[in-house]
Amino acid sequence: MNIILLGPPGAGKGTQARHLVETRGMVQLSTGDMLREAKDSGTEMGNRVAEVMAKGELVTDEIVIGLIREKLEQGAKGGFIFDGFPRTLAQADALGDLLNSTGETLDAVIAMEVNDDALVERITARSTCGGCGEVYNDVTKPIPADGKCTNCGKENDFKRRADDNEESLKTRLMEYYKKTSMLIGYYYAKGNLSWVDGLGEIGAVQNEISQVLDGGVDVGNG
Ligand code: ADP
Repeated sequence: MNIILLGPPGAGKGTQARHLVETRGMVQLSTGDMLREAKDSGTEMGNRVAEVMAKGELVTDEIVIGLIREKLEQGAKGGFIFDGFPRTLAQADALGDLLNSTGETLDAVIAMEVNDDALVERITARSTCGGCGEVYNDVTKPIPADGKCTNCGKENDFKRRADDNEESLKTRLMEYYKKTSMLIGYYYAKGNLSWVDGLGEIGAVQNEISQVLDGGVDVGNG
């Protein structure tokens, strides 16, 4: 089963993707994570994307489609979760072609609905563990007082993303509304779209997603 998690920055796509990896053995393909790795590797491509990402703009379709193509070729028994991809119509078309060419299907597109005020609050309060990527939030899930990650136990290695500031976030939201949000209509028309309420507690969102994936909810558009 291959699925897309679709939603604005801060909607909780990464958190939900991690849960699906743990519980269903799916493989998470986060273009944001891949690009951050490329950035840290100091390669020529990495240097090119670093500046674009810091500003909150989108990296070129060519680069991200190339990254996804490589991963799809490796295959995944439990299926892929596309997290942060596609972000443009060209990327969505390319994903369709790539899946067709490997004989794979796209089984669900889960749109995560969150209001914009909540997004800004979530993102500016966000940090992640440098050891395992566990996500913390200053308000709803603070870093433990002993400084140890609750997931992997690593001590005092919490990071804030360079683009998790108000200025970059404004650009990221604008990029989302200008270039990505129409993918909701695109997948609705293809008959793949389901909505979940991204404002709920993490566990409640997990349940809603499970219902969609296990057929409890009609994923058609009829
Ligand atoms: P968020 O969803 O919180 O904005 P991501 O980690 O998915 O965070 O993405 C961070 C940045 O990486 C984006 O702002 C953009 O610069 C770049 N990026 C990630 N995925 C894509 C993509 N599919 N196409 C273009 N740029 C991307």
